[in-house]
Amino acid sequence: MTAIRLRERWYVREKGEDRFDVVVIGAGIAGLMAASRVGGHGRSVLVLDKSRGVGGRMATRRVGGAVCDHGAQFFTQRTPGFHGVVEEAMHDTAVVEWCRGFSRDGSIGAGALAVGDGHPRYRGARGMTDLPKWLAAKLAAQGNGTEVRTGAKATSVAIAADRVRVTIEGQDGAAEVVEAAGCVITAPVPQAIDLLAAGGLLDRMDAHAIERLRTVDYDPCFTAMLVLDRPSLLPEPGAIQFGADAPGPVAWVADNQRKGISPVPALTVHATGPFSREHFDAPPDEVSAMLVDAVRPWIDGDPRTAIVERSIHRWKFATPTTILPDPFVAVSWAPPILCCGDAFAGPRVEGAFSSGAAAGTMLADRLAGGGR
Ligand SMILES: Cc1cc2nc3c(=O)[nH]c(=O)nc-3n(C[C@H](O)[C@H](O)[C@H](O)COP(=O)(O)OP(=O)(O)OC[C@H]3O[C@@H](n4cnc5c(N)ncnc54)[C@H](O)[C@@H]3O)c2cc1C
Repeated sequence: MTAIRLRERWYVREKGEDRFDVVVIGAGIAGLMAASRVGGHGRSVLVLDKSRGVGGRMATRRVGGAVCDHGAQFFTQRTPGFHGVVEEAMHDTAVVEWCRGFSRDGSIGAGALAVGDGHPRYRGARGMTDLPKWLAAKLAAQGNGTEVRTGAKATSVAIAADRVRVTIEGQDGAAEVVEAAGCVITAPVPQAIDLLAAGGLLDRMDAHAIERLRTVDYDPCFTAMLVLDRPSLLPEPGAIQFGADAPGPVAWVADNQRKGISPVPALTVHATGPFSREHFDAPPDEVSAMLVDAVRPWIDGDPRTAIVERSIHRWKFATPTTILPDPFVAVSWAPPILCCGDAFAGPRVEGAFSSGAAAGTMLADRLAGGGR
């Protein structure tokens, strides 16, 4: 059934839809910023994301009656380009300042002071997805034909004559081909390499570029979300940052209600990279039990009764452990295909922003120089 439908769509789309100047793969912060920069130069962009919504690892979800940020927890803005965007998002009430630092000391209890370093930490007003949602809404409002399409997975990136040819699989399993003058790939690097391989581009690529991409690796991360029937015992500002190299299994624990995004108390617990690697294939219930045990001191009472709902998420590509020195890598210049994201020039939300913005600006410049 699917095969027949696939073939029909291929027939209909044989030449490829080509009403977009650029295709951006991934609607995380890097992809949305790349699209924003390209769109700012009057080019139409198709942004694709395989997930149901935008944001990528800036992710917020409902668990029972709670709202939990289950990917990135906060962000900083120390670079001038990001500063301007955050200021604008704050003006539009999509972003608010959360605090100026977190406790790193797991031994302190409720009422203890947070360790502030003076640098503001920001969050989305209703959850971390608010910033990417705000960026996506601004893209749509640019009025240049730009479209953000979710539930649309790119399955290959190829070159046909002087055009980039991206094959997309929709949620209904149907395939579609889009052709454009340029492409930005923001998927985690191993997935980006798979897309290029599927399009037969690895053999055609600059060997040095592919070598560099192959050096990138990521730590996985387990996230437990625990809805509580009573307030947590976390110190101000409602989170402890143990750090990725913490000796125990937990890198971070936050109370989403204290953070200001959940109507009821709910903990987000991030495991460390080493713990997540070691237990990557373990049954989720076992991992969840270990994480609950580790955050027991901040749960008031017996976790068996205090936790009323729980959910666990496994991020396969959570944090890059190798960061490439340049903000993007050009896989091809004719036509331009650029890889970017948080593994380029700086991890975390702010680094992904800068990488996407740099790739989008470069692509717009190339196209202005006669790329189409
Ligand atoms: C558990 C966790 C905690 C974190 N905590 C923090 C924090 O507190 N502060 C901070 O600054 N950073 C934090 N980070 C890191 C931060 O979330 C990332 O650096 C940043 O969001 C990466 O953005 P990106 O756009 O590069 O990638 P992503 O957000 O991963 O976006 C890539 C997008 O590409 C899409 N995609 C992939 N393949 C395809 C395909 N074939 N077709 C279509 N779409 C595709 C994905 O669905 C995804 O939406 C954390 C990350 C995790 C996982």
